[in-house]
Amino acid sequence: MATLTDDQKSSLTSGTGIPVDGPVVVTLDGPAGTGKSTVARLLACELGLDFLDTGAMYRAAAAIAVDHNIALTDVDAVLEKVIDADLHFDWTTDPPAILAWMKQLNQRIREPDVTKTVSQIAAIGKLREHMVRKQRLIGQQHPRLVTEGRDQGSIVFPDADVKFYLDADPAVRARRRREQMIESGMNAPSEDELLHDILLRDSRDSTRKDGPLICPDDAIRIDTSPITIGEVVALLAKTVREILASRKA
Ligand code: C5P
Repeated sequence: MATLTDDQKSSLTSGTGIPVDGPVVVTLDGPAGTGKSTVARLLACELGLDFLDTGAMYRAAAAIAVDHNIALTDVDAVLEKVIDADLHFDWTTDPPAILAWMKQLNQRIREPDVTKTVSQIAAIGKLREHMVRKQRLIGQQHPRLVTEGRDQGSIVFPDADVKFYLDADPAVRARRRREQMIESGMNAPSEDELLHDILLRDSRDSTRKDGPLICPDDAIRIDTSPITIGEVVALLAKTVREILASRKA
């Protein structure tokens, strides 16, 4: 039987349109409510890659601080508790579930008190260093990855193969967030209230000293306001395939 050369092997695709082996990292960054998590998850599925939701890690840290009555200003206590919780993902579920002290936090991290405090927690420099280390380690263990957050293309995976920055009109983001909450059976505040929260979170996320939300120079910026989630996923998948194919050529 003929043996394939490395070049031949990497040109094989698994029906996903991308090479079947070798590392592939795709980053998606952008502000709250652009549909990033849903898009990243669907894109990962379409391309046969793993999916990392780094927002879930910061949300879990916020839930831990709130649930243990730790003041957000007590940086060392927050960090100590988060390290003790041994945050990690259960990769056998879809999407991977986040665990603290081996307990699933998926519901808790989406609750309003966590959403309100998370951007303050995410501004803690020492906590970010801890999360960046964890995320890079995940990148080593899951080298074929779609990862989403605020600093994935800029800080955590600066050498990613493809970087996207998703944006959308704030009013559209508030409307989508409300629809999403209603769909998942949560009590949804008014669009105005959600818009206020989103703008506050955007401002905290983009003005903090460590790992602020930025669009990396080498990222492809996409305004998702006028297109559906399905269209965004199709566009991103096509772009990843084209970029990876052009690298090989
Ligand atoms: O994306 P999601 O809304 O779940 O993120 C929650 C919060 O976590 C963001 O508002 C931001 O403050 C923080 N975050 C971050 N860096 C990331 C991912 C999320 O600071 N890579």
